[in-house]
Amino acid sequence: MQRCLVTSHDRAQLFAKHFGFCLLGRRPTPVPSPIHGPLVRLRNTPISEHPAPEHHPTSRRRLRACHECDWVMALPPLQPGQQACCIRCGGVLAKRNSLPVQRCLALAVSASIALIAAISFPFIRFSVRGIGNQIEVTQTATEMLAQHQPIVALMVLMAVFVLPALYLMAAIWVQISLLLPHRLPWSRTIARMLGHITPWMMADVFIVGTMVSLIKIAGLAEVSLGVSFWAFIAYALLLLATTLSLDSDWLWFSLSGGEPSAPEGIHTGATAASQNLAGCHTCGLIGRLDEHGHGSCERCGEKLHARKPRSLQYSWALLLTAAVLYIPANLYPIMYTTSLGSSDPNTIIGGVIYLASHGSWPVAIVIFVASVLVPIGKMLALAWLCLVAPRAPGMRSSTRTRLYRLTEFIGRWSMVDVFVVAILTALIRAGALMSVSPGPAALAFACVVILTMVAAMCFDPRLLWDEVSSAKIKGSDASIYDNQGRTP
Ligand SMILES: [Zn+2]
Ligand SMILES: [Zn+2]
Repeated sequence: MQRCLVTSHDRAQLFAKHFGFCLLGRRPTPVPSPIHGPLVRLRNTPISEHPAPEHHPTSRRRLRACHECDWVMALPPLQPGQQACCIRCGGVLAKRNSLPVQRCLALAVSASIALIAAISFPFIRFSVRGIGNQIEVTQTATEMLAQHQPIVALMVLMAVFVLPALYLMAAIWVQISLLLPHRLPWSRTIARMLGHITPWMMADVFIVGTMVSLIKIAGLAEVSLGVSFWAFIAYALLLLATTLSLDSDWLWFSLSGGEPSAPEGIHTGATAASQNLAGCHTCGLIGRLDEHGHGSCERCGEKLHARKPRSLQYSWALLLTAAVLYIPANLYPIMYTTSLGSSDPNTIIGGVIYLASHGSWPVAIVIFVASVLVPIGKMLALAWLCLVAPRAPGMRSSTRTRLYRLTEFIGRWSMVDVFVVAILTALIRAGALMSVSPGPAALAFACVVILTMVAAMCFDPRLLWDEVSSAKIKGSDASIYDNQGRTP
């Protein structure tokens, strides 16, 4: 693949040009392209909830079913820096990076080196009236364990160190495999793991937690930053860049030495479920389902479902559990601060009020947004989506899908307060003079964050489009699916 250095304006023009070529089937492409019209949208073009159905059979190559609305489209050839979006909901179907293997490998190796540096040197040093304490970054997890909070310690350890390290090793393994003439063992299993780990890596959220902690204690004690602090920032940024550089469409195309043909009789311009098909969420390939609406991807082995099984029931159950846990998370102290022998409990709201009353408005706003607005907003938004999914009211499906994307994106940022407690607990250990220990609300609040994240993952956004899809399917004499993906 050749590097393509163009401006964003040029990119749009190039994309439109390629789109036109592809419609006519003239342009030779590095990956197989369909013969007939690719029903994908270029970025910044209007989204249509009622794209014209196209029921002509296409070449059965490079077809995709949108993960968010289930619409079947054909991918156009992509140039580096371009991404193909769904014409109906705007969801990203595929993106192309220049030198995808080399770029991802270089970033993953750099992030791994930065991680090793981050856990090998002192992180932050704190001292008050001659009594000091210096911590390494991993002590934020081990100190929580020592304070009898093993579940919170495990969450911090997994989200900040273990899962990112696994992800980086997996990315390096898969990219090296792509560079070799023969694939390394377990490459497909490891590549499948990458997408499942990504939502649970929170090194970037930990950076925000560190900043908030530093501002909180800046006026109370002397703080100096160690080498590990800067290494950790580099690690978090490089990890983020690695996840963004991973071109999964290219990865699976290269791992499999091409793309298997899509099932016989497949049509673009209709939902996959209406044709008893489903798109793989890992590699994108469309596969045939059995009579119960289930199947498995022939390329990566991932399970396929017309709709996620019992999506609404799982989402409701997890949401209700999170709502119940949110009560103790606010009623009980999230941490205790000991100063000159007296111990004060701090609730989440109490902490926000304390910071605001002492003039730390920016930090107070960050904590208020992350710990109050985001969890409540996310629970309400998800509950509303679960309510409207089976009823399909007048609100546009694309608006509901955007709301779903937002709830998925913001959920993990609520972990800021949990990381603040972990960092302060590890750092401020000056005995009766000044120390911090976690309260019972830390566990409850961490569980709220994890449960709402899982609830959002269990929710199937394709349900938000099913009424629109059914109307289209009725018009084209295809099977009609209800909101659970079953034929009535
Ligand atoms: Zn879509
Ligand atoms: Zn697959």
